[in-house]
Amino acid sequence: MKTFIVRCGETALKGQNKPYFERMLVQRIKKYISTIDGATAERLDGLIFVRTPDEANTEDTLKKVGRVFGVDSISPATEICIEGLSAEEVIDAVGKEAVKTMMSLIETKGVKTFKVEAKRADKNFPIESPQIARRIGAAILKGCKVLSVDVHDPECQIFVNVRRTYAYVYEQKISGFGGLPLGTNGKGLTLLSGGIDSPVATFMMAHRGMYMDAIHFHSYPYTSERAFEKVKDLAQILTTYTGKINMYSINLLPIQEQIVANCPEDQTTILVRRFMMRCAEKIAEKVGAMMLITGESLGQVASQTAEALVVTDSTVKLPVMRPLIAMDKTEIIKIAQEIGTFETSIEPYEDCCTVFLPKHPVTKPKLEKILESESKLDVESLVDAAVEAATLDVIYQEFE
Ligand code: ATP
Ligand code: MG
Repeated sequence: MKTFIVRCGETALKGQNKPYFERMLVQRIKKYISTIDGATAERLDGLIFVRTPDEANTEDTLKKVGRVFGVDSISPATEICIEGLSAEEVIDAVGKEAVKTMMSLIETKGVKTFKVEAKRADKNFPIESPQIARRIGAAILKGCKVLSVDVHDPECQIFVNVRRTYAYVYEQKISGFGGLPLGTNGKGLTLLSGGIDSPVATFMMAHRGMYMDAIHFHSYPYTSERAFEKVKDLAQILTTYTGKINMYSINLLPIQEQIVANCPEDQTTILVRRFMMRCAEKIAEKVGAMMLITGESLGQVASQTAEALVVTDSTVKLPVMRPLIAMDKTEIIKIAQEIGTFETSIEPYEDCCTVFLPKHPVTKPKLEKILESESKLDVESLVDAAVEAATLDVIYQEFE
C-alpha cells in the first residue's frame, strides 16, 4: 500500500465544529479518489490518511487529493508498523526508512545537506521529539556518508512522525488549495460568462466551501453555438474543483431587443445587467442558492463603477458576492492560469454583453433615470418568459 498524509489547514481551527468539517473533508476526498481502485481515506487524530494500492499512480493521487478544498498539504509517506516494538526498536526501524529515503534523494536530486524534523504524536512514546530528530539524524549520517546536517538552510528535510501504531517518514509537503470543504457553506448561483473573471470568482467562492450552480446568458443566434460550448468547457474545468454544476442558460435576446427599441442607447449595458440579476435571482430561488456571485471588479468597465454596481444590485434582494471586487486584472489572470481556466477563457468568442454594446455607456447611472426607462418595458413578463425558457446542462466529473 502507498500512504499519503493529508493535513486539513483551516478546518483544524474550527473548535467544536472540527469533527463536522473533517468529516465533510474526508467525504470529499473519498469522492475524488473513488476513481482509484482500492483507495481509502480515514481520519485519525487530526490527520487524514489516504491509502492506495502499490500499483496506483502517485502523481494522480496527489493531483486528485490536492484539488479538494480544505486540504492544506499532502505528503507521500512511508508507513512503519511499530506495534509491540520497544522505543529503541522504533528508532532503529524509522532510522532505516529515513536512510532509504535519503539514499533515493541523493540519487535523484544529488542532495548533500539535510535536516530532520520529528514529531511525537503519541506522548506515551518515551523519547521526546528533539531526541528522535537527533537519533534519526545520526542514523542518516551513518548510513549516507556524503551527507551533512544543515539546520538553517538544508537542501532537504526529512519528517518523522511517531504515532501510536505507526510511524511515518516523508520528505515532501505538497501544498493543496486550502479553503473549506465543499458543502460547508451552502450553495451559490454564479453568473458565468465566457470571460476570464467569472470562472475565477466561481472558484474562489467554492474554495470557501460553497456549492455552485451557474447561470449563463447568451444572445443566440447573435452569439454562436461555439461561444456556448466554450462556457460549458469552462464549467467542466471548474467541476474538477466544485463538483457537479447545474448550468442554466437563458437567451437574453428578446430582452435586449426590447431595451434597444425603447430605452436610451447609453443605458443599454446597465439595463441588461439589471435584467440579468432579476433572472439570476429567480433561478437562485428555484435551486436554493443563497447568494449570487459575479466576477466584477471595481472600475474594470463602465458597468462596474461604484455607481453602476449600486444600480445593478438594487434589482435583487439576494446578496451579490463579488470576490474579485478589489483585485487587479493581473492578479485575476494569475489565478485563472493556476486553476486552468485561462487558456479557455481567452478563446475569441462573442459574449451576449458585446451584442448591442453602446458606443458611450453611462458610467455613473442615476437610479431614477434607469427606473424611468424600465417603466417603458414589461419587466416582469420579460423576466418570466426568459426564465421559463431556460435550458439546463448538468456538468460533472466522473466521481460525482
Ligand atoms: P468576465 O471575464 O467574467 O466575462 P468581464 O470583465 O468581461 O468579466 P462583464 O462582461 O461586465 O465583465 O461581466 C461582469 C460579470 O457579469 C461577469 O464576471 C459575470 O459574472 C457576469 N456576466 C457577464 N456576462 C455574462 C453572461 N453572458 N452570462 C452570465 N454572466 C455574465
Ligand atoms: Mg464578460
